[in-house]
Amino acid sequence: MFPLSAFATPLPQNEPVPGGVVVMQLPQAGRAPRVQFDGRRIMVIRHDGRWYAVVGIPLATAPGQKTLSVRLADQPRRQLGFTIAPKQYPEQQLIIKNPELVNPPASALDRIEREQAHLEHVLNTWTTDAAPELTFIWPADGPQTSGFGLRRFYNGEERSRHTGIDIGAPEGTPVRAPADGVVADAGDYYFCGNTLTIDLGQGLYSVYCHLSKISVRRGAHVKQGQIVGSIGATGRTTGPNLHWTVSLNGTPVDPHAFIPASAIPALDSR
Ligand SMILES: [Zn+2]
Repeated sequence: MFPLSAFATPLPQNEPVPGGVVVMQLPQAGRAPRVQFDGRRIMVIRHDGRWYAVVGIPLATAPGQKTLSVRLADQPRRQLGFTIAPKQYPEQQLIIKNPELVNPPASALDRIEREQAHLEHVLNTWTTDAAPELTFIWPADGPQTSGFGLRRFYNGEERSRHTGIDIGAPEGTPVRAPADGVVADAGDYYFCGNTLTIDLGQGLYSVYCHLSKISVRRGAHVKQGQIVGSIGATGRTTGPNLHWTVSLNGTPVDPHAFIPASAIPALDSR
């Protein structure tokens, strides 16, 4: 037997900014403390004999002082403070040929609202206390073509922030699970196209958009690196690419927090 610490889950990268992940050491305790931020349950991980909170910070968060609410067994809640620094994200101009994907027709609004509510519900569901794998693999053979958090303008009109990263590759390129998990949702969405959501545990989710094919079903257990679909151009997109959102405590965060720099292909690698 190896000592358990040989397999300790490495923690994600701590970047206390809007859209980043905060990794905070918690008071010593025998059992996992229960942690909340903004009324939402927060991931708690044991690493090298200590407890850590792993907190997703919404892109819309104002910089400044924040507090985590921490409860140790049989003790009153206590507040732990931390500071969010400002971060400037760049702008990006995009041209979309189908105007209905920029300004959806009235007939599509019900569908869009229903889909957003459904995905919101999925991403806010806490299914397991088990510790997730916090070191992801790069999910498709292609470079990053667009970064997280960009302020996006479609045909000159500002729309929602870019809540994930894009990986460019030809249609049909295999897409792999970033870590072990369970398929929480699979379906065809107005903006996101064919969309696959994998529950990685403790409120951490991976969402893949624009797929040409989804090859796993809801409820299926998937292993890190397993092929779960193929790259496509379904939904609102300028061409075949994988849009990848990582959601933590119900908020999209920069996937790079979970990816070792050595695993990221360079833009000129193809
Ligand atoms: Zn995208």
